[in-house]
Amino acid sequence: MVIRIGLMGYGTIGKRVADAVMAMDDMELVGVIKQTPDYESEVAINKGIRLYTYDDKISKFEKLGIKVAGTVNDLIKSVDVMIDATPDGVGAENKVKIYEPMGLRAVFQGGEEAEVADVSFNALANYDMAIGRRFVRVVSCNTTALSRLIGAFLVHGYRIRRVRAYLVRRGADPREFKKGPINDVVFNPATVPSHHGPDVMTVIPTVDVVTMAVAVPTTMMHLHMVNMEFDGQITRGEAVKVLEETPRVLLFNTAFRKFDSLAQIIEWARDIGRLRGDVMENAVIEDSITVFQNELFLMQGVHQESIVVPENIDAVRAMFRLTDKWSSIRKTDSALNLVT
Ligand code: NAD
Repeated sequence: MVIRIGLMGYGTIGKRVADAVMAMDDMELVGVIKQTPDYESEVAINKGIRLYTYDDKISKFEKLGIKVAGTVNDLIKSVDVMIDATPDGVGAENKVKIYEPMGLRAVFQGGEEAEVADVSFNALANYDMAIGRRFVRVVSCNTTALSRLIGAFLVHGYRIRRVRAYLVRRGADPREFKKGPINDVVFNPATVPSHHGPDVMTVIPTVDVVTMAVAVPTTMMHLHMVNMEFDGQITRGEAVKVLEETPRVLLFNTAFRKFDSLAQIIEWARDIGRLRGDVMENAVIEDSITVFQNELFLMQGVHQESIVVPENIDAVRAMFRLTDKWSSIRKTDSALNLVT
């Protein structure tokens, strides 16, 4: 069975999800809805992607010689599911205006409120909750990274009493020239918890998670400083083993391999030929993994532009009951050439 997919919003997340869908043999990217004719439209067309747009925008595309395959309605009629990667809040509007009236299924992103979907999703942590669902929300980059990290230990049978995480967020994505800060540390927000902890608990309600966040002038990655308190003892060796065995988690060593910063992790991804220099895995700093009795401390880098991409693919498989959790994770990671 091949699932026919339409994509709404071809920005940072959308363009990556489009490429990922095209790499899957059980999915077909029928087309992408764009509202602006620009360089990204040309790139998409050169990749063989069919573009669709709103009735009143067709002439704008035609004037610039960019060929569209049809209107939003044309695309919607020929897909099984829409992956919505529009900016925060637009997905919820699309649900009411388009997906619900047309009887469509949809995957939303983490910028939407949890209420937009039947389930907030992370493949490792709660794949089964999305099986057969009509509306699924892939949680944000920070929430995905924390859910994977916590999920890794839960999957291995550990009991976690509580998680406290301190998030140093990138100020903007590399292409976002109007965002900042450029010389500041912004309380993001000053109040506790930041929205990330409660958001993780929409995926893993059994663990108490509190987060604090600031935003800083970098576009590379987010950095998380995490403290996990276990119900019972854990050794550093056990923690390392869990993380080594978990898909979509990579360990970066500073002592031997000389990874001293997040920029070097991105450089590594570029050097090994990752498309766009993406790091879809949690980048755990191996030397930071420390255990005091039942408390684990570590740092992890989170490549905000790409970490949610494999989760979108698994969400579709769960919604359409294509396969089970581990088969889906393996299939996605293999098609995306992720190191496991
Ligand atoms: P983006 O601004 O880079 O891309 C959104 C795209 O959607 C833009 O190209 C915009 O023109 C287009 N768009 C807007 N309204 C549209 C409409 N009605 N029809 C068709 N296209 C429309 O945004 P993004 O960073 O890719 O974020 C998308 C979603 O993913 C948000 O929910 C965001 O919170 C979430 N997310 C973003 C990141 C990140 O760091 N960028 C990480 C994880 C999740």
